[in-house]
Amino acid sequence: MTVVVEAKNLRQVYKIRRGMFREPAQLQAVGGISFSIEEGRTLAVVGESGCGKSTLARMVALIEKPTAGELVLDGTDAVATPPQEKRRLRQAVQLVFQNPYASLNPRKKISAVLEDPLKINTRMNAAERSERCRAVLAQVGLRPEYAGRYPHMFSGGQRQRIAIARALMLNPKLLVADEPVSALDVSIQAQVLNLLADLQDEFKLAYLLISHDLAVVRHIAHEVLVMYLGHVMEQGPKAKLFARPLHPYTQALLASTPGVGPRNVQRIVLRGELPSPLAPPSGCVFSSRCPYAVERCRAERPLPREVDERIVACHFAEQFLAAGFPEVRGTDNASLPG
Ligand code: SF4
Repeated sequence: MTVVVEAKNLRQVYKIRRGMFREPAQLQAVGGISFSIEEGRTLAVVGESGCGKSTLARMVALIEKPTAGELVLDGTDAVATPPQEKRRLRQAVQLVFQNPYASLNPRKKISAVLEDPLKINTRMNAAERSERCRAVLAQVGLRPEYAGRYPHMFSGGQRQRIAIARALMLNPKLLVADEPVSALDVSIQAQVLNLLADLQDEFKLAYLLISHDLAVVRHIAHEVLVMYLGHVMEQGPKAKLFARPLHPYTQALLASTPGVGPRNVQRIVLRGELPSPLAPPSGCVFSSRCPYAVERCRAERPLPREVDERIVACHFAEQFLAAGFPEVRGTDNASLPG
């Protein structure tokens, strides 16, 4: 299958001012992430707030330029492409935002919301734009005559369908969906997720899904990338990660969402807050919250490597694969296998 987007070692580092007389601090929001998404496939990026997943989404959506790394989108080097030639690339990747109440201009009719991208990027005349608008509304399960209404006349689920329709107007190859259903009622979430799945089947769309909700990820993803403090912890096929996580952080996330992880598994409760990315822990970035951390974890950063058909960044992934996660008692460190 055709690869729609490929990222190699993508990094994003921000300079944070600390007053007139001090050097700016460096905040590494994304610290070297690699992945590829084929047409018709979904990569879900999961992790707590502040882990860097939205920054990653903005880089892939061409809103932010990466500090380093490669990004090939629809066969074109998106980092090296000069700004004036980015228009075609911007048509290939479209965004669906989290909040359908805030992402639609309340003063514009739906027809104007949907036709604006066509006006800017194509030479379609008014009749062609109107026809395309009505056709895409039908594709997302809305009646074509809704084009003459305003956003406030729709429910949350309908507004998110309109936001998805706007993203589809230019026939993109990749949709970057940042928490696309988290603002919706649970009963509506499944309908919008099913719509995304149907559109993917029909148009072979690739999705980069940003989500903190593992139930949503289980519903729609093919591959999963677990991020923590800007780094990949575990990355691979959804079935593998959900059936048998090998990184303690993945295990903790699955244990915190009832009904999505494997049954009768060791429950890992995360201690404390996510550390500041301005002062990440030395060695393994997860070491300050990991119940299995030992001296080696604080001294040496585990390099991501392949274990059981996925990438894992933990010194003890092979032991966890062979013997499972040891029992954690209270807040004491568990004794590691082997
Ligand atoms: Fe925990 Fe150590 Fe593995 Fe990091 S390397 S996840 S601290 S056991």
